[in-house]
Amino acid sequence: MQAFPAVATIAQDVRNGGRSARSFTDDALARIDAHGEALGAFLHVDVDGARAHADEVDRRAAGGDDLPLAGVPIALKDNLCTNGVPTTCGSRILSRFIPPYDATVVARLRAAGAVIVAKTNLDEFAMGSSNENSAFGPVRNPWDLARAPGGSSGGSAAAVAAGLVPVALGSDTGGSIRQPAALTGTVGLKPTYGRVSRYGLVAFGSSLDQIGPLSRNVEDAARVLAVIAGGDPRDATCSNDPVPDVVAGLEDGVDGLRVGLPREYFDDAIGDGVKTLVRRAANRLATAGATLIDVSLPHTSYGIPAYYIVATSEASSNLSRYDGIHYGHRTKDAADLAETYERSRTEGFGAEVRRRIMLGTFALASGYYDAYYDRAMRVRTLIRRDFEEAFEQVDVILSPTSPTPAFKLGEKTSDPLEMYLADVLTVTANLAGVPGLVVPEGLCDHDGARLPVGVQLMGPLWSEARLLQVGRWLERTREEAISIPEGAAS
Ligand code: GLN
Repeated sequence: MQAFPAVATIAQDVRNGGRSARSFTDDALARIDAHGEALGAFLHVDVDGARAHADEVDRRAAGGDDLPLAGVPIALKDNLCTNGVPTTCGSRILSRFIPPYDATVVARLRAAGAVIVAKTNLDEFAMGSSNENSAFGPVRNPWDLARAPGGSSGGSAAAVAAGLVPVALGSDTGGSIRQPAALTGTVGLKPTYGRVSRYGLVAFGSSLDQIGPLSRNVEDAARVLAVIAGGDPRDATCSNDPVPDVVAGLEDGVDGLRVGLPREYFDDAIGDGVKTLVRRAANRLATAGATLIDVSLPHTSYGIPAYYIVATSEASSNLSRYDGIHYGHRTKDAADLAETYERSRTEGFGAEVRRRIMLGTFALASGYYDAYYDRAMRVRTLIRRDFEEAFEQVDVILSPTSPTPAFKLGEKTSDPLEMYLADVLTVTANLAGVPGLVVPEGLCDHDGARLPVGVQLMGPLWSEARLLQVGRWLERTREEAISIPEGAAS
């Protein structure tokens, strides 16, 4: 199967009348129809809504509207609210929820002419690293159907990697855009906390969550970011500062760039195949005039414990609204209110979500608050300072994203702690609020398969344009083409 044209090409074609938004939309719907089920990537395909919206985009384009994403088919992680279209969060508790409004990012995409074709599978409430925590079944990695695509934005990553849609949105609380991007050979961007409005994103860890694009190339990610970024009166944590042009400097290169290699991100827990490819990218940068500098982020190893206290605490609070009365599934025959709460929540939530609610409730309990939540917040400050100090010496940090390439479905499900540890290289950016971009670097042999490896670039707050510029350079000079995996969609 051939990949979709670049986002800019699709939009230009539609604006010029060369090809209709309807035809791009029908193409995406046909690809999803043929291959979506084998991957488990979608929870809802909005056939009628997408066609109607595509026709409207064609009318607007014919009327001369300036639509930067005219006719671009896009899939959305199913924790983003879509007006009139089911939004389940991969959970039984929301299996019948139809939001009466669009998330801000969804409204902005529609206004820019993008066509929302489907909602993608995810770990329940975005809690997981393999997409195996979805109540509606796992997602399969297009590079090897026996493997996980990563999580929690696994459906978005698999859909883009398999070429079913050109771009998708995910959300990233501790790595959920970047890790699946790394494991599926796609580009994934977690913007700075506050760059993109979270209004209409179903909350998991509100001080960590950000929405961002997954795409096949860096420019497409930049073009989607340009549309969704920027202040929103409905999200007080979203910055009102003007968003710099993230497309203009994409081809500017890396001469004179100072690149930090954090020693804690290259330790023995990180697989050799992954390290080799990250070093290859670093060496290429050095040859092109960048300076490689060893840096230290000394509190990295405290990232996982701090993250799993902050994230679960915020989740226990955020998820209290699903009580069978305000929101979500209500049990059939409960004797009283307390039993309604208890049974609705027990029936509606899966094992991992229940585990996190219990962990978070425990961490916030009076008497334990200082020992856990407060302490985790102090560690968070130390991690943020690690980054601030490193960025006094370097412009960007280059690191691995995931300790290994894609692991097998079922390989880590019996041990939640092992699954949590897979997030060690990504949770720090969320704790510090800094942006992270993942770009595929190549393929490596791992555990009997040939699998993609993505490198991670992190930068100071609000440095998306710089990350995208460096990511574009790495992509342009990459030694191997990352095409649609053969057999992905068979
Ligand atoms: N894997 C991490 C977790 O399970 C991150 C999830 C996310 O970023 N939404 O919490």
